[in-house]
Amino acid sequence: MSHEVLKGKKVRIETLGCRSNLYESEAIASALEAYGAVIVKESLFDVAIINSCTVTQEADRKSRQLIRKLKRFSPAARIVVCGCWAQKSTEDEAKALGIDALVGNRMKSRIPEILINLLDESEEKRLIVERRSLQYCEKWDDLLLAKPHFHTRAFVKVQDGCSRSCSYCIIPSVRGRPVSRPLESAVKEVKTLVANGCKEVVLTGIQLGFYGKDIGSTLADLVESLSDINGLERIRFGSIEPFGIDRDLVYRLASISKLCPHFHLPLQSGDDRVLEAMSRGYASLDFARVISWFREAFGDDVHIGTDIIVGFPGETDEMFKNTLSLVESLAFGRIHVFPYSARKGTRAYALKSDLTKERIHERVKEAILLRDRLLDRYARRWIGKNVSVLVEESTCCIVEGLTPHFLRVKANGSAMQNEVVKVFVNSAEDGNLYGIIL
Ligand code: SF4
Repeated sequence: MSHEVLKGKKVRIETLGCRSNLYESEAIASALEAYGAVIVKESLFDVAIINSCTVTQEADRKSRQLIRKLKRFSPAARIVVCGCWAQKSTEDEAKALGIDALVGNRMKSRIPEILINLLDESEEKRLIVERRSLQYCEKWDDLLLAKPHFHTRAFVKVQDGCSRSCSYCIIPSVRGRPVSRPLESAVKEVKTLVANGCKEVVLTGIQLGFYGKDIGSTLADLVESLSDINGLERIRFGSIEPFGIDRDLVYRLASISKLCPHFHLPLQSGDDRVLEAMSRGYASLDFARVISWFREAFGDDVHIGTDIIVGFPGETDEMFKNTLSLVESLAFGRIHVFPYSARKGTRAYALKSDLTKERIHERVKEAILLRDRLLDRYARRWIGKNVSVLVEESTCCIVEGLTPHFLRVKANGSAMQNEVVKVFVNSAEDGNLYGIIL
């Protein structure tokens, strides 16, 4: 059966989870469009592809819920589930949900072939399972994104997998060991994206800081190569764990003008006893040192964001206060606050906790108050300054987009989507900037 069978087929792609999943879904869309399939958002489709997530029990529930919903929308459609939930779910569960194909991580480039088999009426209808153990897998799943479908900026995945074992995290068991994308493949993809009008790429990975360690390269080598691409205006990092980052790397990155001075480094806790219980592998002072390198190298305007988990088993009021004071002292901008949620299959799942839901909720509220105050403080430093904005949305007299420092701007004036404009900032509110196009 040839690729012809994909021609004109309506494919709906839904994505849960992280930016790596977002990239993979966009690249799957590119691959299927190349065979003549049509990517749709409507409720009638021939094939649904769900790029699933399993980072929390809630993510599992949402993955199952989405499968049921799409099955209800188009009962005759083929249902393909890929990603982290698909990497670990059982075949019985898949059959019970009416799934036609389960595609594990690092197998997503196989999806066009799998769809051809699924759509081949002469084939006996059975659950197709394409997965492999990722424990020793060092293969890169070479997807190629031609143009972003759902965003102005393009997410570009350059690294996968993780060799750490944070006690609350299930990701290494479903994403496997660290593997880096060949540098040439990343450069080729970004050249294609720029040729298709893309101005900004967001590099993503599970362990971005580890990029290149398995292929004799470094993250700085990659960013330098990408910055040589004419027409590319901005290179941004998605979330980057503090591991694998040293002072030299930070200074090399700071010398690359196209790299956006915005870094999101998950801290998770500011208390050393909680960090130990999380097996994060660093103490609060180590983390603070990494942050100081970024401030030294990129200057005070650098935007540093972070993630914190509130309510980890054993976290006392005093430990929680240590987190808040470290967060305050490191002057973060954007902070993501997560209430701890026990995840079956992780070591932390067995930890006893006498923290009630209400107590965790109170701490989350307190952390959010700090989050809003710090983001507002960071945003206000731009009042009275000119910033460059990559326009994502524009109406007749208002444009909206992001600065290199990852602040959202609404500005009076007119410009085209995907244009980079200069804006004078005259106010800030709730972490957003307001101004006029110069
Ligand atoms: S570094 Fe820790 S939290 Fe991040 S993916 Fe690896 S195990 Fe999970």
